[in-house]
Amino acid sequence: MKAFVADAQWEPKKGYTPTVREIARKRASIGSSVWRNPTFELKDIPTPNICDSDELLIAVKRCGICGSDSHLYETTPDGYIQFSGPVSLPQVIGHEYSGVVVKTGGKVRNFKEGDIVAVESIHWCGSCTPCRSGAFNQCENVELIGITAPGALAEFITAKERHCWSINSLRRMYSEEECFDLGALIEPVGCAYNGIFIGGGGIKPGAAVAVFGAGPIGLAAVALSRLAGANLTIAFDIHNKRLDIAKDLGADYVFNVNSLEKTGILPREKILELTDGYGAEMQIEAAGAARRTVPEMENSLAVNGKLIYLGRSAASAEVMLDILVSGANSIIGARGHSGYGIYNNIIRLLSTGRLQIKNMITSYYDFNETLTALKKSVERQDGKCMIRLG
Ligand SMILES: [Zn+2]
Ligand SMILES: [Zn+2]
Repeated sequence: MKAFVADAQWEPKKGYTPTVREIARKRASIGSSVWRNPTFELKDIPTPNICDSDELLIAVKRCGICGSDSHLYETTPDGYIQFSGPVSLPQVIGHEYSGVVVKTGGKVRNFKEGDIVAVESIHWCGSCTPCRSGAFNQCENVELIGITAPGALAEFITAKERHCWSINSLRRMYSEEECFDLGALIEPVGCAYNGIFIGGGGIKPGAAVAVFGAGPIGLAAVALSRLAGANLTIAFDIHNKRLDIAKDLGADYVFNVNSLEKTGILPREKILELTDGYGAEMQIEAAGAARRTVPEMENSLAVNGKLIYLGRSAASAEVMLDILVSGANSIIGARGHSGYGIYNNIIRLLSTGRLQIKNMITSYYDFNETLTALKKSVERQDGKCMIRLG
């Protein structure tokens, strides 16, 4: 089968000593400290088959390009990949996907050939202490598909039944092609859902929400906040195209941070102005630019406000902790989309048309144009770049 494979040179940076286990598996815990000069190629590799009886074989139909994929492609001046999470290469990349079940293992109970599915990208083990405590996103033995295990930019992929979700219910409302589009968006939307409703405990109808970063996760945060009854949703980004999509998905106000700052106005001032000085009850960081965003957020949080940190970057930022004390505010980190009914609830919201996110997709590419799509994603103009397969 055809698959889009990433590879790079294993050259640990000075000061980073990989463990024996990291070397044996060519799995760097901090990818950006080890992998250099990445290459990407669409090539023929053996078609996977079901090895365990609890697996499904899936023909991939859509796969979205994620910010983490862009970070595998982008390098620092000395050639190291930007992605700071665990990376095992060579690897078929891609993890935001949907497809059709073409074969089921003997022990699979809930799926049959022809079912359409969306699949969690966090392959949690189910037996470690965090998993058995319900914290699947913090699994100690986690494999991240498309990064540490074979991904979905391939004609076929296998997945365990426990990581798969039927999206057959979307067929009631949408064409098969639209079902695949929406199915591939559940993974990034799930990350926003997890941050806002699971980690952050949700918002009260009437609340004000500020979202920093209007990439796919920030856009999903806008749509979900709106759906949950936010009275005011404000989005910030540095790209106007993304801000237009945010507006389309329900943001009441959108601001280009660079243009604002040119006029001497800080995002915090806009938030305070639009909330009559009270600030926003929930502030979502989906930009991965903590140094720039955290000071804005902490200075415009409402009393009992929550700062939800979803962006990924290995940076530190200064926080004026006294503001947290006097405002009884909290900072909450969240990652992933597994557990807590997240997939199930998003699928239900999509199946009734209540959650409208299709416009997040701003460009489509054929499978053989994947490298072009990856190059384009680095410009960060798109909502979501979607690859069509099969
Ligand atoms: Zn992702
Ligand atoms: Zn686990």
